[in-house]
Amino acid sequence: MSQAPIPRPGILDIAVYVSGANQVGATTTLKQLSSNEGALGPSPAAVAALRAMAGDMHRYPDGGSTALRAALATKHGLDASRIVCGAGSDELIALLLKSYAGPGDEVLYSQHGFLMYPIGAKTVGATPIAAPETGLRTDVDAMLAAVTPRTRVVFVANPNNPTGSYLPPEEIARLHAGLPAETLLIIDAAYAEYAEGRNDYTAGIELVEAHPNVVMLRTFSKIYALAALRLGWAYCSAPVADVLNRVRGPFNVSLSAQVAGVAAVEDTEFLARSRAHNEAWLPWLTEKLTGLGLSVAPSAANFVLVRFPETPGKTAAEAWDYLAQRGVLIRKMASYGLPHSLRISVGPEDELQEAVRLLGEFLAA
Ligand SMILES: *Cc1c(COP(=O)(O)O)cnc(C)c1O
Repeated sequence: MSQAPIPRPGILDIAVYVSGANQVGATTTLKQLSSNEGALGPSPAAVAALRAMAGDMHRYPDGGSTALRAALATKHGLDASRIVCGAGSDELIALLLKSYAGPGDEVLYSQHGFLMYPIGAKTVGATPIAAPETGLRTDVDAMLAAVTPRTRVVFVANPNNPTGSYLPPEEIARLHAGLPAETLLIIDAAYAEYAEGRNDYTAGIELVEAHPNVVMLRTFSKIYALAALRLGWAYCSAPVADVLNRVRGPFNVSLSAQVAGVAAVEDTEFLARSRAHNEAWLPWLTEKLTGLGLSVAPSAANFVLVRFPETPGKTAAEAWDYLAQRGVLIRKMASYGLPHSLRISVGPEDELQEAVRLLGEFLAA
């Protein structure tokens, strides 16, 4: 057989992203606390909207996601013309990198930041640069120290996945103030709805309003519980929105995602219920795990990062196996540079109870 075509430099440096969902054989019904999806299942209104559109699936969707952008603009008080929707925020991350970075450029993120940032950077031939964190938290000074004339894009997940930590608005503003005007700052606020109750957190809208080089990313995969439909959105300046609208596919967001998205945005009761679930069970989970002697990083999101002992028989890898063999799937963290930690999503009550019970059993053995 002749040799296959050679991809561009950087592509073969990418380690394939292993999702939380496919780390064990898909033969058993699993309790899945590995991907931070909404704990309550989708909004009943979103399910109804999806069913109602089924007979229209022979039609192309509205390429501008007009109704969805209008619903988001109303809910958040935004200019709809500066919202761009994507097939998950992953697509928007990829499109922003494709538009603003390439070979010879650097893409900066924090040490334990979301994996799609270095993956996306390598995909476009750019060099991902990880700035060290301090205490599992984005370190603005370290980020600024890592900026060079080649830094084109800077990512901050706020709150961050997988650490659960967040930066207050003045720290994000200080990071922005230290960047050159031609560098794009992308605030990935995938978990904003879980953190918004805190008085020292904002998702970044005010920074987007004030500066043309700031983008806020949001997703429907987490609190809105529509991960399977692939839906995210960006809020950005008019020039950045124009760029995204040029490079995205003309029908990049499916009709199912658009109609379910509108219904989910308008279902305020579901959002309140989801938030209340997290506000009750995040502290519960943190307390139970701490009670087992594990070290739990404070989290402003819908998951916790848990540090395990390095003693043989009690390690993170062994704990993961123990739970997986008993039908509870949590997330390995070695790919995030945290081999002694595991991430557990704040899922439904019965699944959390089972995870805590099994971890107690594992640690006592
Ligand atoms: C889950 C997650 C996303 C969402 O990705 P989608 O493509 O919208 O499903 C984005 N950023 C971070 C940090 C996440 O954890």
